[in-house]
Amino acid sequence: MEEKMKEPLILSGKELSQKIREGIRKEVEEYVSSGLRRPGLAVILVGDDPASRIYVKNKINACKKVGIESFFYELSSNITTEELLDTIAELNSREEVDGILVQLPLPEQISQEEVILSIHPDKDVDGFHPQNMGKLVARMEDGFIPCTPLGIDLLLKHYGIDPKGKDVVIVGAGFIVGRPLSLLMLWRDATVTVCHIYTRDLKKYTLGADILISATGVPHLIKEDMVREGAVVIDVGISKLDGRIVGDVDFERVKGKVSAITPVPGGVGPMTVTGLLLNTLKAYKRRVKVHSTSTIKP
Ligand code: NAD
Repeated sequence: MEEKMKEPLILSGKELSQKIREGIRKEVEEYVSSGLRRPGLAVILVGDDPASRIYVKNKINACKKVGIESFFYELSSNITTEELLDTIAELNSREEVDGILVQLPLPEQISQEEVILSIHPDKDVDGFHPQNMGKLVARMEDGFIPCTPLGIDLLLKHYGIDPKGKDVVIVGAGFIVGRPLSLLMLWRDATVTVCHIYTRDLKKYTLGADILISATGVPHLIKEDMVREGAVVIDVGISKLDGRIVGDVDFERVKGKVSAITPVPGGVGPMTVTGLLLNTLKAYKRRVKVHSTSTIKP
């Protein structure tokens, strides 16, 4: 008789996000009713990439729901680096702007490096400025952790999955997710392996993972035979396959083998936006120097 597959724990970023965002909303309302201004996030979209437009819209809507004011800047795809830097310089000095987010990727003619360096580290809610990346290396709590790694960390914590002493394998070494996440998992005392496009035998590494995190954008890269029985699987990827949104993980086949898994959508995606809201609140609190009543530590 065929063995009945066990149902894994579904790590719902959607549910956890609702809970955390409700906490943020209440906290913001407390500040506002005590006479303080609202937190503010500036969002810059350059060009007309459809996926970027959706991400930006989601972020602005999420701000609205928790009472964070957003300032939306839509810039033409043919602006120069200097023009974008001028906008950022203005936002760096604006009192009511606590965080600045420049949606990536940027058009080719713009230097991403210069843009990242131009955002004031205290307003760098994406956590990409080298000062904040450095604080992640140095384990300094006052930096901003990039939103997706921060969201994953909160998701693991919420479901009682402690990376300490575990073998964490990260597939994908990108600047936004894989690399900062590897530092954060080291911070959490995991044994971390990072794989990427030049890794020769991916399966050799993924099979050893207690916690497998994939962030490549290759649809269904992670198959059932690449995952250890009982592992925890976190799927960061977002791709389109046959008109559907799918992750890096072949969810339907992998889910019968693992103890816990994130769905796509509804897993890491909402947690990334929640990470952004938490970082914006952190920037705001630091700038208006209010005593935190929050129990959620960004
Ligand atoms: P990136 O292009 O910066 O990095 C991709 C990484 O994957 C690289 O290190 C590359 O070497 C590796 N890679 C590519 N193909 C591989 C393969 N066949 N085997 C092993 N490694 C491979 O991308 P990114 O910005 O880190 O984003 C990765 C994915 O995560 C994308 O699908 C993106 O849309 C998604 N993403 C999701 C969220 C979210 O909130 N869920 C947030 C950010 C990014």
